Amino acid sequence: MDPAHRERHRIGADGNPVYREIFRRPATSAGGVLLAARITARAPGIVHVPGGGTHHGRPDRASGFCYVNDAALGILEWLDHGLTNILYVDIDAHHGDGVEDAFADDARVFTLSVHEAGRWPFTGTGHGPTHANYPLPQGATDTDMLAVLHHAILPLVAARRPQAIMLQCGADAIEEDPLSRLSLSNQAHWAVVHALMGSAPRFILLGGGGYNPWSVARCWAGAWGVLNGHTPPARLAPAAEAVLRGLTLNRAAGRNPPEHWFTTLADTPRHGPLRPDTVALLGL
Ligand SMILES: [Zn+2]
Repeated sequence: MDPAHRERHRIGADGNPVYREIFRRPATSAGGVLLAARITARAPGIVHVPGGGTHHGRPDRASGFCYVNDAALGILEWLDHGLTNILYVDIDAHHGDGVEDAFADDARVFTLSVHEAGRWPFTGTGHGPTHANYPLPQGATDTDMLAVLHHAILPLVAARRPQAIMLQCGADAIEEDPLSRLSLSNQAHWAVVHALMGSAPRFILLGGGGYNPWSVARCWAGAWGVLNGHTPPARLAPAAEAVLRGLTLNRAAGRNPPEHWFTTLADTPRHGPLRPDTVALLGL
């Protein structure tokens, strides 16, 4: 790609590194979410696309590690199949700005994002006719996420009765993630998955951000379990443990990973006092 094209599409800039799989990785996730939308449009059901969730991508440029916005493409596919009432929910630590903006003027799609307040891309503070935002304060726990689930997300589902729900389940909102400062356990993510998977005839579960490989693997494996009605075992089977022991992270958290990152999927729930900021956000 020549320098002018790189500049125009922000490749090699703005947190969009050039790397070996720069085409294959986003192409695979976009293909996966498009296929999931096509499958569920024809026959209602549930599809898990853990490689999907690149919610910062823009129509003409990359943004924040997201080269193609697979979530927006999947929603467009649902719209092309005639769906008229779609709900996109995003619980990544970062605001789902690319998806919100993509459908800001389309009454058929409502986007709701729960993310860390004051974190890049520094948007996602307001509400509008097609979107809602719940920026949680640093240190927010499962208590705050469950309050948003029960006082904002589920009432919205009840009011809109969507034909299809897409959930971006970024694992970077979990306590051990090195890029953000929320303090959720993976149980909070699983509670949202469980609550939404039966709330519409069509449900697509995406991955998203996540910069601690153990948090990512444990959160999304458990989310797959939720979709399939499996309760995580108290101790993982040796083959699963071997997978987790084989992961590496070249950051502080990777130097001395606690034993339970290898032997379990479920975190101990992290509850705390409901934050005043959360109370204010929800008008409780
Ligand atoms: Zn993120």
